[in-house]
Amino acid sequence: MRSYRVGIGYDIHRLADGRRLVIGGIEIPHARGLLGHSDADVVLHAVTDALLGAAGLPDIGELFPDTDPAYRDADSRVLLRGAMERVRAQRWMTNNVDLIVHAEVPKLSAYKRRIAESIAALVGVAPEAVSVKAKTNEGLGPLGSGDAIACTAVAFLKAIE
Ligand code: MG
Repeated sequence: MRSYRVGIGYDIHRLADGRRLVIGGIEIPHARGLLGHSDADVVLHAVTDALLGAAGLPDIGELFPDTDPAYRDADSRVLLRGAMERVRAQRWMTNNVDLIVHAEVPKLSAYKRRIAESIAALVGVAPEAVSVKAKTNEGLGPLGSGDAIACTAVAFLKAIE
């Protein structure tokens, strides 16, 4: 009986000068952006790993290695779509996604709806099935000093009968 599966994903990227800030597939105006091999979209990376984990597939680092020049400056929406193709090939569909963005700066409350809509379109659910929460780190550690942004995501899959 394979009705439902849950998966968790986590990611963190440093904030650096001279980079675009892309969160959940949305570009957000900010003095600094996330540093990484791809566009460093910390939210899409966590969501991708949650979906892959729920489906029992290899993680994002195995599927899209950052040592592969093909993924240099990659659009993480393309990576998530590729992961969803593999999830669907295993006969799973997304039921819902819940996530927390851990960010001291910038304030993300004005962008939560657009981020949810962006992720919903990528994973094939209604925007109401994607919950986006933004939390500060109460000034503690590298997240609290605004030197990094992290994301924790949970994905719930149901079997395609
Ligand atoms: Mg990442």
